[in-house]
Amino acid sequence: MFVLQVPVTIPASDKTVQQIIQTSEATVISPVCALGKASNHRGLAGAMAAVRLPLLCVSNFKGGTPEVVSASYAILVLMLPGETGRVWTAHEIDLVEVVADQVAVALSHAAVLEDSHRTRDALVEQNKSLQLARQEAETAIRARNDFLAVMNHEMRTPMHAIIALSSLLQEGKLSLDQRSMVDTVVKSSSLLSTLINDVLDFSRLEDGSLSLEMRPFELPTVLREAENLAKPMAKGKGLDFYFDINMDVPQFVIGDEKRLLQITLNIIGNAVKFTRHGFVSVSVSLEKYDANIRRDPRNPSWRPIPVDGFAYIRIVVKDTGLGVRDSDIPRLFNKFVQADSTTTRQYGGTGLGLAICKKFVQLMNGHIWIESEGLNRGSVVTFLVRLQLQSDSSKERERPSREEELNKEDLNGLKVLVTDDNSVNRIVTRRLLDRLGCDTTVVESGQQCLAALSQPGSNFKVLLLDLCMPEMDGYDVAKIIKQKFRPGEPLVVALTANTDKGTKERCLQIGMDDIVLKPISLQEMSSVLCNLLHHPKSGTRSQGYPNGR
Ligand code: ADP
Repeated sequence: MFVLQVPVTIPASDKTVQQIIQTSEATVISPVCALGKASNHRGLAGAMAAVRLPLLCVSNFKGGTPEVVSASYAILVLMLPGETGRVWTAHEIDLVEVVADQVAVALSHAAVLEDSHRTRDALVEQNKSLQLARQEAETAIRARNDFLAVMNHEMRTPMHAIIALSSLLQEGKLSLDQRSMVDTVVKSSSLLSTLINDVLDFSRLEDGSLSLEMRPFELPTVLREAENLAKPMAKGKGLDFYFDINMDVPQFVIGDEKRLLQITLNIIGNAVKFTRHGFVSVSVSLEKYDANIRRDPRNPSWRPIPVDGFAYIRIVVKDTGLGVRDSDIPRLFNKFVQADSTTTRQYGGTGLGLAICKKFVQLMNGHIWIESEGLNRGSVVTFLVRLQLQSDSSKERERPSREEELNKEDLNGLKVLVTDDNSVNRIVTRRLLDRLGCDTTVVESGQQCLAALSQPGSNFKVLLLDLCMPEMDGYDVAKIIKQKFRPGEPLVVALTANTDKGTKERCLQIGMDDIVLKPISLQEMSSVLCNLLHHPKSGTRSQGYPNGR
């Protein structure tokens, strides 16, 4: 009868066990010792051979090679059942030791295999969760972008009505009280519009979907434009305003002029906003790569790297205003951060401006920093941006002057066709055009638009075309117009509340002559039409467009 004596526990301190594990050689043990009894299930065996087996376990996979460490031993007991008087010869003992070695190697291989399976399973699981996390992140980004696109479109449409109609009201005869109310509406709606643009810019800068639009431009002209816009702000507050453009500043460069203007105006705007008395000064110079020139004290290792065909421009905006506490400086370039929680109440703003400027400056391979000697001791904001230098042959010399661009007289009697399915937008656009003296016709669908254009003698010079329309959208209408009519008859301008780059690219690809972003004020409408008539198909206007704002 076979009697299985399990489980049997023999302490490691057992004399025989100790004797076996002390040596790598096989030991002959008595069948009546504790280990012998436990191994002898049939009770018939004679002397047994026992040998230790190092149990190798894989500590970890280092660079793909498992490192094995012997942690403990198993004991292999060999017996030949039925031979009660067995004597183990030296040769047999040798054989037992060889077998023990083989078993130990096999066990270690099994341990390695088991561990690699475990690692593989863990990696598969890890991959699955990473993939899931990636899918979730992509879905979240898509949802966020969709939300932004919809909100942006939905917010711009009513903003268009508010800005356009209040800019019309401003032009009319008003009592003092009414004028002050309308001025406030105009100011507030323009602030709201800036905020919408800022939030959108920032989110697109954060997810990397906003890139710079590189074009040739005249640097001093853009800087003078910043000066002309900022000067009245400073003078309005009774501040002295100095704007110095050093002689060494290059004339013709390639870069994103609109974004450069946006950064410059933002920084000067802050200087004016946070200064009650004294002055605001702006100085622009060519970076000299001089070791002694002032660098960011918090990041002295940042240095502009000279590259052939490129130059760094250094713009320093200094004010005698509120100043900043040293401890607040490191946070100011983070989004929605203001040095003081009462700032919004006292000075307005959202804390997005510097964060946006920093991202744009970085896109221009530059650096921006702020310094201040403390509260009420003024601030100095310095930023460097890299611009490409234009070779003589590629210089854009035929740029129109501002006066040339804006000749309102040309709009008198201009035949404009407006196509928009939204009735409020139709009223708003018609009113703007009427005020500019245009001869305006308004229709509400793509089909009506094509019918109006096909009428003999219709002779429309400009078509303002909404892109989002049911049945036949603006793109389809534009495509048909480009096939059926001679180029420029009429000039096709997309009027849209969609700010994404794709919309703009698609419009220009179809061959539209310009794209205008709602909201649009009377002045903007006038300048768009004048530009269009003077320079059809310059493809560079894109009034109000974030990439060309
Ligand atoms: P906002 O001006 O909308 O509050 P910004 O991001 O442009 O946001 O600026 C962040 C904060 O940095 C401001 O709220 C203000 O505390 C501080 N700051 C920026 N420029 C100046 C300056 N010229 N003088 C004093 N504080 C400034």
